[in-house]
Amino acid sequence: MKTDIEIAQSADTWPIEKIVDQIGLSADEWEPYGRDKAKVQLSSSTQQNKLGKLILVTSINPTPAGEGKSTVTVGLADALMQQKRQTMVALREPSLGPVMGLKGGATGGGYSQVIPMADINMHFTGDFHALTSAHNTLAALIDNSLYQGNPLHLDPRRILWKRALDVNDRALRHATIGLGGPTSGIPREDGFDITVASELMAILTLSHNLDDMKQRISRIMIGYTYDKEPVTVADLGVEGAITTLLKDAIKPNLVQTLAHTPALIHGGPFANIAQGTNSILATKTALQLSDYTVTEAGFGADLGGEKFLDFKTPLLGKVPDTIVIVATVRALKMHGGEDKQHLTTPNLTALKQGLGNLGQHLKSMKRYGVPVVVAINQFTHDTAEELALVSDYAKSFGVDAYVADVWGQGGSGAQELATGVVQATERADYQDFKPLYQPEDDALVKINHIVQEIYGGHKAVLSAKAEKQLANFKQYGWDKLPIIMAKTQNSLTDDAKRFGAPTDFDIHIREFMPKLGAGFLVALTGSILTMPGLPKHPAALDIDIDSDGHITGLN
Ligand code: ADP
Repeated sequence: MKTDIEIAQSADTWPIEKIVDQIGLSADEWEPYGRDKAKVQLSSSTQQNKLGKLILVTSINPTPAGEGKSTVTVGLADALMQQKRQTMVALREPSLGPVMGLKGGATGGGYSQVIPMADINMHFTGDFHALTSAHNTLAALIDNSLYQGNPLHLDPRRILWKRALDVNDRALRHATIGLGGPTSGIPREDGFDITVASELMAILTLSHNLDDMKQRISRIMIGYTYDKEPVTVADLGVEGAITTLLKDAIKPNLVQTLAHTPALIHGGPFANIAQGTNSILATKTALQLSDYTVTEAGFGADLGGEKFLDFKTPLLGKVPDTIVIVATVRALKMHGGEDKQHLTTPNLTALKQGLGNLGQHLKSMKRYGVPVVVAINQFTHDTAEELALVSDYAKSFGVDAYVADVWGQGGSGAQELATGVVQATERADYQDFKPLYQPEDDALVKINHIVQEIYGGHKAVLSAKAEKQLANFKQYGWDKLPIIMAKTQNSLTDDAKRFGAPTDFDIHIREFMPKLGAGFLVALTGSILTMPGLPKHPAALDIDIDSDGHITGLN
């Protein structure tokens, strides 16, 4: 079997014009970025088209390498295309943190990939660089305001806007800036977040157009005055400049799968520290241009899935027609107590013990009233007994499960899954959609719904700091904002080491972060960090390029 990068580099990539023709864009609706990428902006007449069906791909709690959601998303879309159903993929842009860190890229795998794989995983059309520049420009403008007499009376100890970099760099989590004497600024404590955790990234993925983006940017809270009054970007007066820096980044990027299915890849917030879905503009564009849009929400259904359904769905104005939960035998074995080193060895006992993790996600996704289907992402070492056990378990919840070999066979390996998904979308009825909470609910009520109905736990326990913050936020109405949980992806609990489906747990909320531009309240749980670190053996150690430009080790 070839590696992901070998398959991608030997692909028959169509010029992007051919993909553009396939979806029927007019000349003023796209601009080429090289020969195999384009930026897309629909004209108002195309925007009035009806919306196609929306298929949301999510998963059980993953192993550290991911469970193949992107791979299944791409393979399922290719399978639908093989069935002559007009389909588009809508994915997030990969972050360089995981590409060079533990997880690797985010363009799918095997024969279900989006291409050009290396470009998409590194630099792509420059959106993340634009975001990083915009983020740090705002940071520099804040420090300049402090230096130039501090007309906004910003308290340097209470500045919330940090610096950002799209790199896993734990050494930058905390920094002291402004050292070097009076001409070098005002000394203060600062730090870096990874770009995908930036509020600007969230805003990019939530904005309907440039005006909306500018409004959102103007609402970003950058810190507090000495009198503890909030200060926003509008007070600084730079929302125009920051929006200008993002004028191209706001446009979705068009590429193709190995099978030439059109794919929009845009925005990339992580689902463990942000809202974890691709942009509203890209999803909507795909819905307008195709009959079926297959999209993915990051990490498990407890993170990206919940955020898609409770936060993105109302803003998108479209409920998913089917939810696909990706499960793998290897991750379920890990949930059943099997060691990471032995996941390729058949073990029905561990698998049985781990099935509860799938069960919790089945319960939590079914409660939304959207048809649910399980896709078992087949690995070569899975046995027939193991696969049958997972299928039968899903059926005991009244949910159909399909084994898919999209990694080994591309769309041909997901024909039954595609047929099952189409049938499920036909059962979808928007009247059945049941949101988890009401917008007017208090923060704690919203969080407890998430903890109990999505994670299967008891309740949220707030630190003294979080309690004080919530009491303070009431005066501004921030306690009514939608909630974005920042939680480990590896467990339903806030402890990354607790696998399976525990029920005897509370979720510990350390701190809240109001993101007024994005329009949500982040609840930081456990020890989750907004600047990840690199592992002992980072993926970067295996990546190389030869004198002809052939890349190895990227996956
Ligand atoms: P996720 O979207 O859940 O994070 P990805 O689709 O990015 O996961 O896949 C993670 C990695 O696992 C990729 O390197 C991909 O090639 C590999 N992978 C996915 N499915 C399979 C499979 N069925 N067999 C072998 N490797 C797979």
